Amino acid sequence: MSDKIQAVRGMNDILPSDSLKWRELEDRVLAVLAGYRYREIRLPIVEQSEIFERSIGDATDIVQKEMYSFEDRNGDSLTLRPEGTAGCVRAALQHGLLQQLPQRLWYLGPMFRHERPQRGRQRQFHQFGVEAFGAPGPDIDAELILMTARMWRSVGIAGLTLELNSLGTPASRSAYREVLSGYFSSRADELDEDSRNRLSRNPLRILDSKNPAMQPIIEEAPRLARHLDRESQNHFENLCALLTRNEIDFQHNERLVRGLDYYSRTVFEWTTTELGAQGTVCAGGRYDGLIELMGGKPTPAVGFAMGIERLIELTQTPETEPDGQLSQLYILATADELEVEAMSLAEMLRTSFPDWRIQSHVGGGSVKSRMKKADRSGAQLAIIIGETEHASREVAVKPLRTDAGQRVVAQATLVDELPRLLSR
Ligand code: ATP
Ligand code: MG
Repeated sequence: MSDKIQAVRGMNDILPSDSLKWRELEDRVLAVLAGYRYREIRLPIVEQSEIFERSIGDATDIVQKEMYSFEDRNGDSLTLRPEGTAGCVRAALQHGLLQQLPQRLWYLGPMFRHERPQRGRQRQFHQFGVEAFGAPGPDIDAELILMTARMWRSVGIAGLTLELNSLGTPASRSAYREVLSGYFSSRADELDEDSRNRLSRNPLRILDSKNPAMQPIIEEAPRLARHLDRESQNHFENLCALLTRNEIDFQHNERLVRGLDYYSRTVFEWTTTELGAQGTVCAGGRYDGLIELMGGKPTPAVGFAMGIERLIELTQTPETEPDGQLSQLYILATADELEVEAMSLAEMLRTSFPDWRIQSHVGGGSVKSRMKKADRSGAQLAIIIGETEHASREVAVKPLRTDAGQRVVAQATLVDELPRLLSR
């Protein structure tokens, strides 16, 4: 171990100066989810490795090189979840949630991928995930997208672009795969190493390459849209119409793909140009084949996941703590012997005003330093117990944010008078 104790690389603390912003964003997203009647599911962070190997597929970056897998003390192979869909489907199957459809679910929490840490890319990051099981049509695809658009408005993020594509059915896609494989093979000597690897495993994923040198070759590749089956075409056109009808702008991006066979039809991404290379803040799509692949009955499914760190970066940072979060009261005694009285008083006030933020002085000090801390706390009023006040069962109430003078109030009437004193 190095001499300084540090967090694991790529795994960040979220400090009090930022956590309010997180909470605010989460609350707003939650309110939108509740408004569409999505319900929370809480899932374990660790699953059997097989859950991910089977669902995400072993030809992906995630399974090949990004998973945090380990053997537990029984010799079972477990993995820190790299994403939420696999565990969500596992739980839905295990608990019979798919016997009542449609099922609209969401979850929130940390995900783990062993990637190179950089801006917008951590090894522990956080996602909101949403899954809708049992609805086959473009209506639910549109619902998910409208819901995300509402989230951006609610959290105050503007300027995102919605990219949309259809992958067709597994059958039409496998026909396209042949065509694509033929095309890329004919230009194999122009491909980079990554793409050559993908060529044998999964040529569709070459379309996803971020290497600028590959772009002209990708640009000239045969188009998926021409190989779509009739029903997928209808599905896509209906989805586009629903979005247009609800004033959602989108771009049809024929390069938007997912390499896995259980994906079908709709895929979408919300992207920004403001975060450099890590521009995707939300990615989703239909995965009608997954539930069957995991041992259930064939069940249509669609979902998305959004990266909270990237969203947080797009929202404005407040310079200071918003006034709404500061204390109403700072309670202090003027001497150590009176501190027990101050604590009882603070407890009594918290019972009387459960919504107020009431901060107690700790750590002793001179009267002057106690008053200075009261002032620095940002509280509206200081409630002071000194020798004289204590003897006469009173307290001193000192406004900290206005010029109004200090007053002495009987402890018996304090609860009645405080709301009025506070609003001055
Ligand atoms: P990318 O192409 O950026 O690696 P991905 O296709 O691996 O993304 P998904 O698995 O679709 O990402 O995850 C959905 C969202 O989760 C992403 O759009 C992004 O906002 C966020 N995300 C994924 N990986 C990370 C990471 N390592 N750090 C921070 N956010 C991430
Ligand atoms: Mg990735």
